[in-house]
Amino acid sequence: MSAVDWLDMFPGVVCDEPLARHSQFGVGGPARWFTTTREVVVLAELLRRCTESGIAVTVIGAGSNTLISDDGIDGLVVRHNDRGLRVTDDHTVELGAGCMMPRVALDCASRGLAGIEFGIGVPGTCGASVYGNAGAFGTEMADVVIDCTSLDPGGTPVTLSAEACDFGYRHSRFKDDLRANVIVSARLGLHPDDPQKVRERTDSIQAERKASQPYGIRSLGSVFKNPPADKAGRLIEAAGLKGLRSGGAQISPKHANFIVNVDHASSADVLHLVQVAHDTVRDRFGVELEQEIIVLGRAPSGDRRG
Ligand SMILES: Cc1cc2nc3c(=O)[nH]c(=O)nc-3n(C[C@H](O)[C@H](O)[C@H](O)COP(=O)(O)OP(=O)(O)OC[C@H]3O[C@@H](n4cnc5c(N)ncnc54)[C@H](O)[C@@H]3O)c2cc1C
Repeated sequence: MSAVDWLDMFPGVVCDEPLARHSQFGVGGPARWFTTTREVVVLAELLRRCTESGIAVTVIGAGSNTLISDDGIDGLVVRHNDRGLRVTDDHTVELGAGCMMPRVALDCASRGLAGIEFGIGVPGTCGASVYGNAGAFGTEMADVVIDCTSLDPGGTPVTLSAEACDFGYRHSRFKDDLRANVIVSARLGLHPDDPQKVRERTDSIQAERKASQPYGIRSLGSVFKNPPADKAGRLIEAAGLKGLRSGGAQISPKHANFIVNVDHASSADVLHLVQVAHDTVRDRFGVELEQEIIVLGRAPSGDRRG
C-alpha cells in the first residue's frame, strides 16, 4: 500500500476539501486531505502514520486567525474538535482543544468562575488560543493556563506546565520548537466570583468590542501585533490607509488593524493589503509591524508569511 492509499481510505478523511468552508474569513483553496475528529486516539494514529509516511500535517481550529492560501494546503489538514468542558474541582476547568472561547467565557460566567471573561471576544478555539496566547483587555491565556496536553508528531501525548509553554505576547513555545505538535486539551485555573458580576464584566467586554471593531463582517482579527508602547491600528490609520481596498478585501474603515472581506476577497487581496500596510508604516514611521495573522498553505514567492 502506498503512502497515499492508506490516507485515502482512512475513515473520515476526505480529499480536496475546500478550506474556505473552514475559514471565518471565507477564503482558502483545497486541502489535499482533510478530517475533523474529537477522538485523541484517532488523531494520534493519524499523526504517527503521517509522520512515518512523510505527509505534512497542518492543524486548524475555527479559522479565525488564519489566512489560507488561494492555492490550498498540501498534505493532511486536521481539526481537533473535542468541545468538552469539565469543571474538575471548585475552580479548575478542563477544556477540549475544540472548545470555542466565547462559549467557555459564558459557561464559566454562569458557574461563577472568573478570569476568562476576555474569551467572549475571541472567536476561536481553546487549542489555538493556547498556541497563540490569545488575550484582550489586559488578560491572556498565560494568566489562566495551568497546563496543556499536546500530541507530538509521533502521536505521543506530552503535558506542559504553563511555564514550559513559554508564553509571551501572542506567542508560545508551540509557535517555534513545538510547531508540529497538536494541542488536544488545556486546564485553566480560575477563581470563584459572583456569577452576576462575572457576566457583567463579560458583557461589557463584548459591548466595547462591538463599538470599536468591525462586527458581523468577516475578518481575521488583528492583522499586526501592537508594537511596544503603540497601536498597530493607530499607525495604519495615521498612514492614511483606513478604507484602502485590494480586490474584495479592505482595511476596515472602523478599525485600521482589521482587514475585512467585503466582496469575495482572495488571500492574494489580503496579502497585498498586509504588504502595503507594513511597508507604508515602516516608510512613514520607521516601525516594523509584525504580523499577528497566520498564513497557511501554498503561496507564490514574495508573499508575506507569519
Ligand atoms: C473578530 C475577531 C476578533 C478577534 N479578537 C481577538 C482578541 O481579542 N484576542 C486574540 O488574541 N485574538 C483575537 N482574534 C484572533 C483569533 O480569534 C484568536 O487568535 C484565536 O485564538 C484563534 O483561534 P482559531 O481556532 O480560530 O485558530 P485558527 O485560526 O484556526 O488557527 C490559528 C493557529 O493556531 C494553530 N492551531 C489551531 N489549533 C491548534 C491546536 N489544537 N494545536 C496546535 N495549534 C493549533 C493553527 O495551526 C494556526 O497556526 C480575533 C479574531 C477575529 C476574527
